[in-house]
Amino acid sequence: MSMGADLELRARVVEVLQDVVDPEIPVLSIGDLGVLRDVTVRDGTVEVAITPTYSGCPAMDMITLEIEIALARSGIGNARVRTVLSPAWTTDWMTEEGRRKLKEYGVAPPVVGAGRRALFGKDEVDCPRCGSGDTGLIAEFGSTSCKALWRCHSCREPFDYFKCH
Ligand SMILES: [Zn+2]
Repeated sequence: MSMGADLELRARVVEVLQDVVDPEIPVLSIGDLGVLRDVTVRDGTVEVAITPTYSGCPAMDMITLEIEIALARSGIGNARVRTVLSPAWTTDWMTEEGRRKLKEYGVAPPVVGAGRRALFGKDEVDCPRCGSGDTGLIAEFGSTSCKALWRCHSCREPFDYFKCH
């Protein structure tokens, strides 16, 4: 296959992948999450590189499957998904667009640059509903292991916080 055909195929793959979303947060695509590392096409063979958000996060197996299904459905059969573990994913890789969508969805986006300390729930988290910073951790694990349950003291609503790591 020619170089031009490879480039064309790559563009199609990138387009298909825009519709692959996090199974736990369906408003976020894998691009928004920063999980999608690279797409390479060589002689008609597609390789999609992803970095898991969380080792042991069951959503990642789902995402691999979702990618394979989406590509197969688009007639792109000669593809494989490669998992890249290093450098490790951090919530800082989430795009601005991703953070905005997350907030609209009612989940507090991860604090930029917070790194691993958020695993211990020590972040300053703004309420995604009213924007108040007067919030507190209720439970280390929310609706999924990647999220913590917080409560806003201002509007009294509980909300999910996408934990940084
Ligand atoms: Zn609030």
